[in-house]
Amino acid sequence: MPDEARYNHRMDHDDYMRLALAQAAQARNAGEVPVGAVVVLDGVVVGAGFNQPIAATDPTAHAEVVAMRAAAALLKNYRLTGATMYVTVEPCLMCVGAMVHARIRTLVFGAIEPRSGAIVSMTSAHEFPALNHRLEAIGGVLEDECRAIIQDFFRERRMASRTGDPEPARSGPPPRTVEGRSTD
Ligand SMILES: [Zn+2]
Repeated sequence: MPDEARYNHRMDHDDYMRLALAQAAQARNAGEVPVGAVVVLDGVVVGAGFNQPIAATDPTAHAEVVAMRAAAALLKNYRLTGATMYVTVEPCLMCVGAMVHARIRTLVFGAIEPRSGAIVSMTSAHEFPALNHRLEAIGGVLEDECRAIIQDFFRERRMASRTGDPEPARSGPPPRTVEGRSTD
């Protein structure tokens, strides 16, 4: 449990991001836009999740929200004070808001999300002056791997549609609007 574990901070960012990437791979295998997240408290993974809005028929089932729900259930606490969120892609406005509600202390993300990212791309929501909780944000951890899994996903989907294969498991809007993730 958290209080028994060692706390190795920055040196372990890559290790935790690899766990988030493993979550992203689960999303990919389920036909969802491959984004993964883990929540770490005192060096221990207390929650993990992958993007699954389609399967869950839940527009809020982003990787970060799924991971925070798991962590809060495990810790039996609606606040994750002092925890670190590792997520493969720059989070959206909803997820940054949820992290503030959860009192996440540090956000570590991999790739930039140029369309909907709410840390450096669309806005810097974690720095809104009215918020009573500040989130430290660190980007670019395993950036290439985190970007590649997204790009490969959309490339394979484009190829599938070009060769006339049935559309992979997805319904609704065209790829560019799915979570706003880049299709390039
Ligand atoms: Zn989100």
